Amino acid sequence: MPKRDPQLAFHGGFWQVQRNLLAEAPRKAWLAFALTWLLLFVLIGCSMVAVDLQRQKQHFERVSYYMTRGLESRLKSCELVLYGFEDLINTDPDIHESELRHYAQMAARRYGFIYTLGFQQRIEHYRRAEFEHQQRLVFGPDFAIRDYRHGAGPAWRKASGWRVAPRRESYIPLIMTEPPLGQAARPAMGLDLMADSVVGPTVERALRSAEIEVTPMLRLGPSQSAIAYIHALYSPSPPSSSPIMRPEESIGIITLLVHTDSLINLRDEQQELLDVTLSRQEGAASQYDSAVFRSQAKEAATRLDRLLPVLEHREQVSTPYFPYELKVSMQLRLRMIPGISLLLAALAAALPGYLVLLIVAIRHHARKDREYADDSLYRTREHASVTLQAISDAVITIDNQRMVQYLNPAALRHLDTTEKYAIGRPLTEVFKLRYEFARRAVADPFMACLDTQQMRELEENSYLLRPNGEKLLIEGVVSPLFDRAGGLIGAVVTFRDTAPLRRRMLEALENSETRLKQHEYELARVTRITSMGEMASGIAHEINQPLSAIMSYCQASLSLLEEDEPDLALIVQAIQSAVNQADRAGKIVRRLREFVSKKSRQHTPVDVNHAINNVLTLADYDLRQAGITVDYHPGNRLPLVYADTIQLEQVVLNLVRNALDAMQGQAQPGCLFVETSYSAKRVCIKVGDNGPGISEDKIDSVFAPFFSTKSTGMGLGLTICQTIIESFGGQISAHNRTTGGAEFTVELPPLDSSTVPYTDTRA
Ligand code: ADP
Repeated sequence: MPKRDPQLAFHGGFWQVQRNLLAEAPRKAWLAFALTWLLLFVLIGCSMVAVDLQRQKQHFERVSYYMTRGLESRLKSCELVLYGFEDLINTDPDIHESELRHYAQMAARRYGFIYTLGFQQRIEHYRRAEFEHQQRLVFGPDFAIRDYRHGAGPAWRKASGWRVAPRRESYIPLIMTEPPLGQAARPAMGLDLMADSVVGPTVERALRSAEIEVTPMLRLGPSQSAIAYIHALYSPSPPSSSPIMRPEESIGIITLLVHTDSLINLRDEQQELLDVTLSRQEGAASQYDSAVFRSQAKEAATRLDRLLPVLEHREQVSTPYFPYELKVSMQLRLRMIPGISLLLAALAAALPGYLVLLIVAIRHHARKDREYADDSLYRTREHASVTLQAISDAVITIDNQRMVQYLNPAALRHLDTTEKYAIGRPLTEVFKLRYEFARRAVADPFMACLDTQQMRELEENSYLLRPNGEKLLIEGVVSPLFDRAGGLIGAVVTFRDTAPLRRRMLEALENSETRLKQHEYELARVTRITSMGEMASGIAHEINQPLSAIMSYCQASLSLLEEDEPDLALIVQAIQSAVNQADRAGKIVRRLREFVSKKSRQHTPVDVNHAINNVLTLADYDLRQAGITVDYHPGNRLPLVYADTIQLEQVVLNLVRNALDAMQGQAQPGCLFVETSYSAKRVCIKVGDNGPGISEDKIDSVFAPFFSTKSTGMGLGLTICQTIIESFGGQISAHNRTTGGAEFTVELPPLDSSTVPYTDTRA
């Protein structure tokens, strides 16, 4: 059984309801909250990561784009510098070397990625000696056109890495590097570029193509690399269209050495994350490392990061002479989400979670409500059903058309029918209601109830005619039945067989009458006992007579016997008379014994008003028969008296009977006055009438034994009354009322005064 109404959870204000719901939320509601929160938190976290990855991607694309554009722009600058230098030489073939050097210094200062710029003449073999001689004036006596033996180890500065160039048709020795390479690069001066295994092929191509050519990567040191732009100058200019002829026409080459690091110009944060490679396009033949620049991300990727894709950007540098491709790649990384963002995500996830919690809690309560309602309904039904089955009253339910819908077992019993037969039939077929002694037309109570929608009682003289013709006196009501909306849906007829009730009432009446008779009998018996003493003298007189007669007869018989010839017949007659007188005396004694054979009585505390009520009830019938009204004034809060109830009642009854006798046969309507009171420490009972009263000369004689003015009166009643009252310690007196009629007053001591308990022990 539910302990309390679950609807209580929805009582109170907005916050109170929430508090109630939370306080009684089931575990699964909290679980739903936790799961929803976790799911949303993870989702929000994932979306934050996704946004961050997207941002990384956009950043990468932007960086890659600008890196390529920057590279192209710098290559363009190299080209411009180169052409400017060429123009300078072509415009004035006799230009002084210092001017070229000045130009080169300006260009290097302007563009940080330019390492050196210079013009290297082509020397025909027949001019070698002269050339070397001239250059020794600049570079010292060791100067010669030389070759560098690549692959001979780090012998850049050692003489063993070098050898004097053998005789060739022409040479392009390195003599001009502006800004100067410094002492460290001094040994490289005089290197025949055309014969160099690294630079030579590019020089060769440049001489033939008359275009700018770019060398493979040149290692300048352990961490420095460079590429060189080579561009040939010719005389005449422009050279012949045949590439084979062009080397012969060349006067030298412009060499522009560029730092690849500066060319790419990676910023610190880019170096942290990006892998950048600048390498020759596939297919571009070279026996050297195809990459001219390579930079690897300094920040190592975690294992988790490696699960994410690697972003890659490849772009061909759009300069025709620069057959390189820039490849930029970046590993997407899981970056820490800031604490404040996580906190906001947790809060954002908590709100829908809380809503889910409330929804689950509300659903839980709704289900509990339903269960509670079902349970209440079930219990109500069960109560109703058990009650209807158990009660002795008959119950019938009918619909609006007065068709029987339900009958309880008592109804089936009274109607002597079965459920199968009765249900669905018109009520009048099953319930044959008739009226005893019906003089006026009686309205059908079922119709009346349905019409007026009011409760109707069955008429008092209603009876049910059972199928076997038996009449069953019934009483009952017809009550309208409403649905939830207040619409009439039928009526309920309840009735009961009144026969058992009447029988019980009759029994009760009989019992009460029996008790009344018993009471009267008791009173009469007590009257006899009480009058015994008063009658003693009369009885003695009665017995004395036969004894005197016996004595006389016996003496006469003795006298006759003493005669000589006794008259036997006379003697027999005398003795017979004596026997008769003895028999009479015996009868008198026997009667006396019978008279007093009952038990003695005990005095008890008695409520005077109660005793008078008993007497008036006893005399009620006679009073009403005589048409006498009773004017009774019971006193309030009377003390109890110590007496024998029956004897006291007998006294009052005797006074009432005398009053009744006195009022008999008079013209005016009789009235009996009874009054109880308490004054002067006496409980007082007054019994009066409006009869003729007692003549003044006889008023003192009424208590004398055998005083009676009635033809059939014994004259013992008042004598007995006086004896009884005096035995209670009280007194009785008689006088006439001023308004006419006699009045007897009984005065008794109250219980609390010193009354000696008295036991009537007379036998
Ligand atoms: P009984 O009733 O047999 O006459 P009671 O001792 O009861 O004997 O009464 C004695 C007499 O007192 C009556 O006969 C009657 O004359 C007189 N008496 C008693 N009560 C009344 C009364 N209420 N009115 C007039 N006389 C009465």
